[in-house]
Amino acid sequence: MVDALWKNQRVLVTGGAGFIGSHLTRCLVDASAEVIVLDDLSTGSRSQVPSAAELIVGSVECRSTVEQAAADCTAIIHLAARVSVPQAEQDPDGCRRVNVEGTANAVAAASAGQARFVLASTCAVYGDPDSIPTSEATPVKPLSVYGQSKASAESIVLDAIEQDRLQASCLRLFNVVGRGQNAASAYAAVVPRFAECLCAGRPPTIEGDGLQTRDFVPVGFVVDCLLRAASSPVAPVVNVGTGHETSLLELLERMQSIAGTALQPTFAAGRTGDIRRSVADVETLHRDCGACEPNRLGQALRDVLDQHAPG
Ligand code: NAD
Repeated sequence: MVDALWKNQRVLVTGGAGFIGSHLTRCLVDASAEVIVLDDLSTGSRSQVPSAAELIVGSVECRSTVEQAAADCTAIIHLAARVSVPQAEQDPDGCRRVNVEGTANAVAAASAGQARFVLASTCAVYGDPDSIPTSEATPVKPLSVYGQSKASAESIVLDAIEQDRLQASCLRLFNVVGRGQNAASAYAAVVPRFAECLCAGRPPTIEGDGLQTRDFVPVGFVVDCLLRAASSPVAPVVNVGTGHETSLLELLERMQSIAGTALQPTFAAGRTGDIRRSVADVETLHRDCGACEPNRLGQALRDVLDQHAPG
């Protein structure tokens, strides 16, 4: 969504040097917004930030740095986070400092400057959900330190909304797919990993029986939703998915058909604690932000395959 609305608006994107943040930053720059990126470059990279954006290298853990970055911004889109589930288990305090205290700092800055605020939350807050498809009313029961940290971050945002200190939304992103995703990332890493194998002519490995499902959502659509939530009122909590449940076997088949390959996968032991089914109820999303066109996922998968193609 490149919109006249963003022209000359000053927008802070925390985590803007990362996978989703760099797509968002490019979109805002294209819409002639004045974009400030606050990123500590722990997983993001300087080269991902367009030269038209101002990059502040620093941590959301530092309140004064966040305040300085947020000065005169009309919107803050908060993506900066420790996103690796295993890393969060090893260093729960570090995860909480970034994901929870970092969010508290960003909320305080948004509240002081009356900026609209959007938190990138996650379907991991549902843990192994009670109902499929999973609506926003489903109990929050995170299974991981990462999921717990995001649930706490949401509470900070929701309290501030409740107390009329903040105009904001928490977007619960499902499995985001697109160019630039780190193959070692803890999320949907299956897509870049499959892409790497298919492009190298190597059989991909499926962990488990391949019948576990996910809701793979194209990054371009996620960016549209973040911008919608940053510019106009949407529900305080919104799932961002496609509403389509895709098994890993179906995903692989779809990617093989795009890549023109027919490699037999090998199967390895499933991951401990792997969720069997995950798919968003998208009623709130459709009402507040619109629906994802079905062919956008095909394009996102093509983009990841192109990125891994040799030469
Ligand atoms: P990413 O790792 O590519 O991006 C995170 C960015 O935050 C990186 O650029 C990193 O350097 C930066 N960062 C980390 N700690 C920081 C700190 N202390 N201060 C400042 N910057 C810091 O991950 P992503 O996939 O682009 O995720 C972006 C957001 O979306 C995260 O909040 C994540 O929890 C959420 N999310 C992503 C997915 C997905 O499928 N990718 C799904 C659900 C939620």
